[in-house]
Amino acid sequence: MSELHSDTGSSDAAWVNPLRDPHDKRLPRIAGPSGMVIFGVTGDLARRKLLPAIYDLANRGLLPAGFTLIGYGRREWSKAEFENYVLEAVQLGARTKFRENVWERLAEGMHFVTGNFDDDAAFDNLAATLSEMDRERGTGGNWAYYLSVPPDYFSDVCHQLERSGMAEAAGGSWRRVIIEKPFGNDQKSARRLNEIVNSVFPEEAVFRIDHYLGKETVQNIMALRFANQIFDPLWNAHYVDHVQITMAEDIGLGGRAGYYDGIGAARDVIQNHLIQLLALVAMEEPIAFSPTELQTEKIKVLRATRPVYPLSKTTARGQYTAGWQGSTFVKGLREEEGFDPKSTTETFAACTLEISSRRWAGVPFYLRTGKRLGRRVTEIALVFKEAPHQPFGERMTSALGNNAVVIRVQPDEGVLMRFGSKVPGSTMEVRDVNMDFSYSEAFTEESPEAYERLILDALLDESSLFPTNEEVELSWEILDPILDYWEEHGLPDEYAAGTWGPDSADQMLNRAGRTWRRP
Ligand code: NAP
Repeated sequence: MSELHSDTGSSDAAWVNPLRDPHDKRLPRIAGPSGMVIFGVTGDLARRKLLPAIYDLANRGLLPAGFTLIGYGRREWSKAEFENYVLEAVQLGARTKFRENVWERLAEGMHFVTGNFDDDAAFDNLAATLSEMDRERGTGGNWAYYLSVPPDYFSDVCHQLERSGMAEAAGGSWRRVIIEKPFGNDQKSARRLNEIVNSVFPEEAVFRIDHYLGKETVQNIMALRFANQIFDPLWNAHYVDHVQITMAEDIGLGGRAGYYDGIGAARDVIQNHLIQLLALVAMEEPIAFSPTELQTEKIKVLRATRPVYPLSKTTARGQYTAGWQGSTFVKGLREEEGFDPKSTTETFAACTLEISSRRWAGVPFYLRTGKRLGRRVTEIALVFKEAPHQPFGERMTSALGNNAVVIRVQPDEGVLMRFGSKVPGSTMEVRDVNMDFSYSEAFTEESPEAYERLILDALLDESSLFPTNEEVELSWEILDPILDYWEEHGLPDEYAAGTWGPDSADQMLNRAGRTWRRP
């Protein structure tokens, strides 16, 4: 009570009312006056993810009253046609309940500007529309440009924004650009892309989306590691035998040939999502929970990360062939629509990385990803060393594996601990059991979609969950030697759809006396 009094007139200046503390991260964070322009609004990503996320944010009351959404594209759409298109996307994809009044308020602020990416007049028209919106809807000159377009167009759009004066923020307002992966094909092209974007927008105005970082469990890695006492003493080379980071998908690549053929699993997933997960799991504690401090620690650990050699023994890659995915017989990659029947693109990639630091020296980090694998799952497993001495005989512990902490990123977010326990009965036998924390059971709040979190963060200038240009270039530096090696040495191995990848992936771990988890 005395604390309450201090809020209502006492002279206790040191006390800060948590309900009024602007740094209190528990409070709902509502974006200030602003608007967003989506380039590529007619594309797959905008329709499935971005537009539903914007509605969900509006529905949760997290967007400003005059929020304005402008679509830019080649179609000759009226405002009403654009509204209908967005409505359809929202009805199909939104997470939260549809509410007519929320929709109507959001729809009032929707506009569509027709144009190509090299069309000066259309960009001038867009600039005029932004000024008009600033006057009419109070967006205050604050605009986020979402480049939901193939990366080949980043340069055109950025230069048009610069030419038409839209990249420049006047009088305390802001202009930000949000870009989607892939951030290049290798370190060289990533650097070129960064140079293009940074020649128009300063780094602090660039928000690179790695949607994995918007997931609740990924942010929970930091809570688990740094808000608790029990994990940290074990989180190092003294106790951890190895780490497995897996992103497995059961879907194939039908319909995605244009994007995927020639790119492959390592560039699509390892360079961004998996290396980011590695950084969060392996980094040191940031001195504050701020974007700069977090990025500093991630960069430090990425600088210390490199592939383990020889790559012939520490990496594996594969391509799926026809097989049974559950009860359905599915095609192999080369028979998928749009793919080259001789495609050499890998749909499975695995590699071994090491981190030269006191904490991690000698601990292999195994990363793997693949399409058409046994199950859809993303997880990080810290597998511990065996106990140095076992008082129980070999037979009593024959069903005991290594202890493990498993952070499940999807599909059902949570944390699992595996340890040995006595089997009930008059005999003595120790067997693995799982202690399982599931987000959906422990909390009544539903996790927001990753894109909701990230779009809101970009509007709020909160950049913790966005990889910087340096992080992106460092990730390529780690992966490039592996990609070069694969380029020079043969073709991907085959694996049947519905299995857990090629034999070479199993051999890669078996050589070290280890096995992959079968989640
Ligand atoms: P998409 O379906 O191919 O859509 C591309 C968009 O760009 C369309 O709206 C298209 O307009 C527009 N566009 C292309 N060329 C244009 C031009 N010359 N002038 C004006 N507009 C043009 O691509 P997407 O899947 O939405 O992906 C967008 C970006 O996000 C890409 O960088 C992709 O790599 C990345 N991404 C996508 C996903 C996903 O799940 N889809 C996931 C992660 C990252 P039209 O309709 O007029 O052709």
